Amino acid sequence: MEPEGPMTGRDGPGGRWVGRKRDGWKGRALSGSEAVEVREFWQRLGLPGLVDVHTHFMPERVLKKVWAYFDAVGPMTGMEWPITYRHEEEERVALLREFGVRAFTSMLYPHKPGMAAWLNGWAADFAARTPDCAHTATLFPEDGVDRYVRAAVEGGARIFKSHLQVGVYDPGDPLLDPVWGLLTEARVPVVMHCGSGPAPGKHTGPEPVGRVLARHPRLRLVVAHMGMPEYGDFLALAERYPEVRLDTTMAFTDFSEAFAPFPEGERGRLADLGERIVLGTDFPNIPYPYAHQLRALEGLGLGDDWLRAVCHDNGARLLLGNG
Ligand SMILES: [Zn+2]
Repeated sequence: MEPEGPMTGRDGPGGRWVGRKRDGWKGRALSGSEAVEVREFWQRLGLPGLVDVHTHFMPERVLKKVWAYFDAVGPMTGMEWPITYRHEEEERVALLREFGVRAFTSMLYPHKPGMAAWLNGWAADFAARTPDCAHTATLFPEDGVDRYVRAAVEGGARIFKSHLQVGVYDPGDPLLDPVWGLLTEARVPVVMHCGSGPAPGKHTGPEPVGRVLARHPRLRLVVAHMGMPEYGDFLALAERYPEVRLDTTMAFTDFSEAFAPFPEGERGRLADLGERIVLGTDFPNIPYPYAHQLRALEGLGLGDDWLRAVCHDNGARLLLGNG
């Protein structure tokens, strides 16, 4: 992806969107005031926009299943999870552009064998028709995983997603060992849902992935959701391994603070790791507006330099490939 690609058509004053064709636009009117709020956030910081390393785009029928899951979560657990951005794909992409998200991802993940290569094909196609979306790929411990991961990397994949909770696999599975080696070598990051939130899984928590890092200490692991709720343990992995990062996805929001509060006493560590915390949001599958994630980060009180690094610079280095 070319860094300037996402900025196409965005050359009005203050990076305002100008002259964008709306032919064929079928969606409902965009939430104008929310876009204004998001844009004011990064404009005040003097940023060219946001970089969001953790957003979800997937084949329609897979996404419908994910949404059905979140719809069922409420009645099952008493934890309501209304999807804020339940729109057609075209409208979801347009919304991120209205927000000024310069680069984002299509985090995909299989829950069973035989699915990852197909998802990777979809993601490559999506990235090809969506220049501001990084070419994303995924994996599963199965025969041939090293082959299709290599093919994805050679095909230009910029970031991988691994979901230990949904996939119910051990990241230390021997089938994945060559894969972690390959990604380390290629310096391609992998966003991993390895924390035990919202509920513990068989292979979640800091230990299983910690064993992978012991074998592959330069793996560019991005711990999703700040490792919620094991924040401190995952911060410790980032302190120990210089290529480990954490994404902010859903962390610090009112929603997450209600069941997995970030410990007050750990804020200093967030400041110290400011170069390795990257904006992620879980758009569109979030039970609150996008701007709330940004406000939650601002509310940590770690200052504008920290916000600039987290909301743009760190993610840009990771996705747009300069460092
Ligand atoms: Zn996610």
